[in-house]
Amino acid sequence: MYDIVIIGAGPAGLTAAIYARRAEKTALVIEKSTFGGQITHSPRVENYPGFAVMSGTEFADKLVEQALGQGAEIELDAVNKIEKADNGYKVICDGGEFFGKAVIIATGSHHRQLGIERENDFVGEGISYCAVCDGAFYKGKSVAVIGGGNSALQEAVMLSDMCESVTVVQNLDFLTGEQKLQKDIEGKSNVKVILSAIVSGIIGDSEFKGLRLSVKGEETELMVDGVFVAIGQQPENEPFKDVVKLNEYGYIEAGENCLPETEFEGVFVAGDCRTKAIRQITTATADGATAAISACRYIDSLK
Ligand SMILES: Cc1cc2nc3c(=O)[nH]c(=O)nc-3n(C[C@H](O)[C@H](O)[C@H](O)COP(=O)(O)OP(=O)(O)OC[C@H]3O[C@@H](n4cnc5c(N)ncnc54)[C@H](O)[C@@H]3O)c2cc1C
Repeated sequence: MYDIVIIGAGPAGLTAAIYARRAEKTALVIEKSTFGGQITHSPRVENYPGFAVMSGTEFADKLVEQALGQGAEIELDAVNKIEKADNGYKVICDGGEFFGKAVIIATGSHHRQLGIERENDFVGEGISYCAVCDGAFYKGKSVAVIGGGNSALQEAVMLSDMCESVTVVQNLDFLTGEQKLQKDIEGKSNVKVILSAIVSGIIGDSEFKGLRLSVKGEETELMVDGVFVAIGQQPENEPFKDVVKLNEYGYIEAGENCLPETEFEGVFVAGDCRTKAIRQITTATADGATAAISACRYIDSLK
């Protein structure tokens, strides 16, 4: 029986582990694929306070090292379900079961991909899923934003202030983002919109040069320095749906206190997997600290 079982070894989960260990609680972190989480896909991070520039992998390695150094245990396994058990929770994984007095869910989310050939080869090298993270790398350059919803339009507005030109590419024949945002982009002379367009391929061999589009069935090319894909995010919270409430998009309903809507005590949630406005490393690590401190207080209250 661990004091705290943390599901997910991204910035939120690993920060929670560090805080839990500093409070002398036993902590197990269970990660199904990449220690460090989604930031490991970023070759360059420039907005984490205290580090002018670092790669996502560098950051992830440091976090893992710090959590292990504090005495946290890390297990490579996928969590399929959590159940209420005597004195805590049973965490059921592919490879076995673990028990914790408290559980922190920190399973993150991932950006929906375009699903085109060679997409992964260009992530961080022409293809980005986050204008807040990577927009500054395209200062004075031409970019495309894929999507027509609120996120895509917000990204287009933000990028228009720093990029030479922004082309919004939407698959439907209308934009789905709110009217105010549509007005905002209409008012920008360096933003244009292409409707009814499907991204069908990438132009460029080793270097990203642009996109192949199918516009109303006609093949065309859009030469840009970079592309921001904003077609939604996908959390992976299905394993927890019997214990915590998910919203219509699959995020765990929880506020800044990291307490999910649940009838069970001792379950906390941290990072990108919960309902929140901004999904960044800073907000994920902040959640990790909040959730861990709340979990420690909860465990102390059991004595
Ligand atoms: C390409 C890219 C670039 C980015 N650049 C920046 C940047 O420059 N600055 C910035 O602040 N943010 C950036 N971000 C966003 C940042 O990475 C996220 O906001 C942050 O990683 C969220 O942390 P998290 O711990 O909540 O979730 P994640 O990092 O998503 O970690 C969650 C972990 O949980 C694991 N997991 C999921 N389900 C299970 C399960 N059932 N069992 C076990 N493990 C599970 C996942 O495998 C994952 O490792 C970037 C994201 C991407 C993709």
